[in-house]
Amino acid sequence: MPSAEDVRPAARAADARRGVDIPTAGDDGVFYTGIAWSSLGYEVAVVDATGTHTAPDVHVTPNLWTLIEYLESLRLSRKNCNMAVAIDSSNGMVDGTLMTAGFDVYRADPWHVGALPTFGSASALSLAEVSRQNLRALTRLQIKTGTLTGRIHELNNGILRSRKMRDVMTMAGRCISHGSRHLRQIALTFDDGPHPKYTHEVIDILERYEIKATFFCVGANISAFPDAIQRMADLGHEIGNHTWSHPYLPDLNPQQLTRQIEETSTAIHQIAQCTPTFFRPPYGSQSPALLSSLLIQDVIVALWDIEPLDWAMPGATQISGRVLGGAQPGSVVLMHDGGGDRSQTVAALPEIIEGLLEMGYELVTVSALANASQRRENL
Ligand code: ZN
Repeated sequence: MPSAEDVRPAARAADARRGVDIPTAGDDGVFYTGIAWSSLGYEVAVVDATGTHTAPDVHVTPNLWTLIEYLESLRLSRKNCNMAVAIDSSNGMVDGTLMTAGFDVYRADPWHVGALPTFGSASALSLAEVSRQNLRALTRLQIKTGTLTGRIHELNNGILRSRKMRDVMTMAGRCISHGSRHLRQIALTFDDGPHPKYTHEVIDILERYEIKATFFCVGANISAFPDAIQRMADLGHEIGNHTWSHPYLPDLNPQQLTRQIEETSTAIHQIAQCTPTFFRPPYGSQSPALLSSLLIQDVIVALWDIEPLDWAMPGATQISGRVLGGAQPGSVVLMHDGGGDRSQTVAALPEIIEGLLEMGYELVTVSALANASQRRENL
């Protein structure tokens, strides 16, 4: 298989027409970086265009910013090269921040990397090597289209196929997309954190208005930023489980799914002394088989009914407009405090809160919304 080095101008032009974005070789060529995750943190491997392993494997701390500093030092030391960074579909928690830092990120899927360990991604070296061998087969990610670029149809199809199962789970109190449509309550939820900056900014704003929200946290970030989890717990915000590494769940087997949920709940419990009630699947991914697997977990699936797509950075005005325009009794609003540049979400938040309060809504946690809804049903 050709490496990107071998891609001739005609082929490159054909790729450009198809929208495939291959890094242009710098004076000294392209080099390929694979990023793996495990319970220990991130592992990085780098190969050059010949497949030579050019940097030592590095186990860095779970802190994503340490990883980015390391990648920036690699980029600086090879300033005449271009760099492709590969992750696999079990790792949806680093690409937004990497792209914000200016890296070209590619996603490898199971058919590129084969079976994954029960708790971890494909190895960093295998990700570097698969991108070197056939970068064009991988999906180049963009902030505007997100981590699931190229698989959105599959995601939507899974959600459609799960409708019946989802309805049954909702009736049984094992899934919630919204609360009672007769109670003027709304739950604000924030996913993919904690983040060392934005999470605290969101909490500061919530405190200013004396309201409680729900944070669906990613295990890898929980272990990196325990102070933010402690602060959420101390202030009475709800902490939900959003997996350890933000994988595309239909790619996992039941054992891998169980570990993602259990390790994250354990990490939350160790810091906050509470076990999360609610679990939110990354991307809201669903399939009948996945929902069946979730039924035997000790969690309630938390979805949403208002999604301002803040992760795509449409601007603070768009974000607040979409939330206020879609608000109705019982709504669950999905926003993000982690996973990338969330400055627009933070900027939009005061207007969202003030707008909802002016409309007469009480802002509550997902648990409070679900409990109030349940009480009303029982009247
Ligand atoms: Zn998420």
